[in-house]
Amino acid sequence: MDTLPFGPNAILIHSSATAHRVGCRHNDEALIRSGDHSGWGWIPEATAEQWLRIDEGQALQATEGNTSLSAKRRCKHCPGD
Ligand SMILES: [Zn+2]
Repeated sequence: MDTLPFGPNAILIHSSATAHRVGCRHNDEALIRSGDHSGWGWIPEATAEQWLRIDEGQALQATEGNTSLSAKRRCKHCPGD
């Protein structure tokens, strides 16, 4: 398998316009990364500011995976939030 894991700075974006951090129980990161889990886009190296800004009504666009997706809110269950 050549599927790389997500780094700790990745933001995962679900098709419900919700952003998740790595390690959230809502994610199945191996499947998302491999493309077997549809309905997700992501930003492999995001900044803390990008994460925080999502909540201020600024949509964050995915750069990989399904790049048509953007996040408009942050998951409330993610680790470290
Ligand atoms: Zn989450």
